[in-house]
Amino acid sequence: MQKAFKVTLIPNHSQEILINKSIGCARFVYNHFLALKQELYLTEQKTLNYNACSQRLTLLKKEIEWLQEVDKFALQNSLRNLETAYKNFFADLKKVKGKKNVGFPKFKKKHVSKQSYKTNLTNNNIQIIENRLKLPKLGWIKFHKSQEITGNLVNVTVTRTSSGKYIASILCETEIKKHSQVAQNIGLDLGIKSYLVTSNGEVVDNPKYYRIQKKKLRKAHKTLSRTVKSSSNRVKAKIKLARTYERITNLRDDFLHKLSTRLIKENSIICIEDLQVANMVRNHKLASSISDASWSKFVTMLEYKSLWHDRIVQKVGTFYPSSQTCNCCGFINPLVKDLKLREWSCPTCSNENLRDANAALNILGEGLRLIAAVGIPEALNACRELVSPGVIQAEIVEAGIA
Ligand SMILES: [Zn+2]
Repeated sequence: MQKAFKVTLIPNHSQEILINKSIGCARFVYNHFLALKQELYLTEQKTLNYNACSQRLTLLKKEIEWLQEVDKFALQNSLRNLETAYKNFFADLKKVKGKKNVGFPKFKKKHVSKQSYKTNLTNNNIQIIENRLKLPKLGWIKFHKSQEITGNLVNVTVTRTSSGKYIASILCETEIKKHSQVAQNIGLDLGIKSYLVTSNGEVVDNPKYYRIQKKKLRKAHKTLSRTVKSSSNRVKAKIKLARTYERITNLRDDFLHKLSTRLIKENSIICIEDLQVANMVRNHKLASSISDASWSKFVTMLEYKSLWHDRIVQKVGTFYPSSQTCNCCGFINPLVKDLKLREWSCPTCSNENLRDANAALNILGEGLRLIAAVGIPEALNACRELVSPGVIQAEIVEAGIA
């Protein structure tokens, strides 16, 4: 299984310059070949595949000297990314299931696109000793060590964050020590009042860091808007704002990792609602709470961790009326559509239903029913298809380590 470890690099001045050059060159190559592909297609209806681009890159490097200064893998990976962007676009055209709506590959802009490059392992060009990471062309770079990095190195992605930090995401092929099998299954109702409620009645509160940080965020935005364009104060204000955002993301990811790790450890089957968060966010009243809660990220974490530990994550369709159904007798109470109704007494069996716990119980029941109908091996396959290896890798890089 592949796992990514995120560390903060402490480059010296010349390393910092070279990292920025590498990022710039990677972007240049991406844009150069995107333009070339477009032009060739428009003028001669010809397409350039990865190998053709790669051959041209060798020639280009002879013409443009500064491309030789940086890690050659950074440039090759740019071509691979471009190839993937095209593939995703065509897959999207054919409406391949599970692919997001991606659109035609866009040119990368210096201040908008992700500032990063990727390098691959060959012949010990990447090594780790203690708190130092060796990268091609850069040599040994110190990093902040917060966790043990285990497994065989595969590749490293170096990113410059908008606050000016340098992060290395180190991808390793590693043996994951699986959690022992457990008998407990659980249903989760992702809520608004609380983060989630389980079918065991446990209430996990919504972390309120965003609201606390919101004040700081508003202040940082205000300061930025008052600065003069291209002044040094503007640069400072921008960094301050980016740091605030980064802090919120880190706090949120930490909360999501701890919660998903615990739920995976304690349960064998986890049933959740297949929330169409995007649709819900359009409801403005709820928008802030929902994006704050970042459920889709949480569900992704549950999904890839379930693969690590042989658990099952079963999604239950949104059409299923989990809140309105009485978990005791199955009576559907349309009055419960009103979000303010937190508890209700069932008119048929007079069971007292707490809104969220009742929903969690129903989600568990429906999830288990679906698994029974399809069979567990298929359910597992369904999960595996949901999270293809490429996607897992991308998400892990995104999410950092469990
Ligand atoms: Zn009832």
